[in-house]
Amino acid sequence: MNRSPKISTQVLRIATTMYRWVFPKEIKPNAEIYALLQSIYPTINWQKVRFYEGLPWFMNGNFANAIVLPATWHTQKIHAYFANYQPNTPSGLSTIIHEGFHVLQYQDLGKGLGFLRGFMVYYLAEYFQLFFKNILKKGYLAANQIAYDQHPMETPAFRQDSDFRQYCLRNAAISPTQLPLKLIHKHCGYAPKIALAFLLAGLMTTLILSIIKPLIEISFLIIAAPIYIIGKILKTISL
Ligand SMILES: [Zn+2]
Repeated sequence: MNRSPKISTQVLRIATTMYRWVFPKEIKPNAEIYALLQSIYPTINWQKVRFYEGLPWFMNGNFANAIVLPATWHTQKIHAYFANYQPNTPSGLSTIIHEGFHVLQYQDLGKGLGFLRGFMVYYLAEYFQLFFKNILKKGYLAANQIAYDQHPMETPAFRQDSDFRQYCLRNAAISPTQLPLKLIHKHCGYAPKIALAFLLAGLMTTLILSIIKPLIEISFLIIAAPIYIIGKILKTISL
């Protein structure tokens, strides 16, 4: 017999979903993954990086399958989110290596507060610069794609994950201590070339995001808390 779920189960599921929008599930990469990341990016302090399965709420429905963002309530911590964390597949592993390159960029581009970090300002500014250069001639969708594909902070990360995939194809086993030199990066090598107007647009957008994001997330939690309590009460009275 197929019984529909209890009301309390449905209510608790709503509360949990809202909670997970703000705090996706934390995952701990195993020792092999850490050893690999440490060999490829030897200057990164991996203690300051957390890994999550699930994308943050504003990325749901987006084309991206992973993203690295600053911790909302910290000056240096960095969060790496994966729609599907799959370190055992070549594409899943190269996604981790790709996101690792963004972690290196965060570290090289300076500390900040919450979302307000050098990485965010430069990333958005470069995106705007490419997007507005192409939107009139090529339209919104193509301009958006170009701004991602040709983004100066994405191209070295793409190169890195493609080099890593090539290495995996040529070698049956990955040996963190014998990696080709071109896979090892101590610094990201990024030097911004951005017109002042776009730099200011990047700075303003980052400022707005760093204020709005925590407010929206607190609202989600304030709404989710009573829903959770109601769910628990319904459960105790077996509804
Ligand atoms: Zn990327």
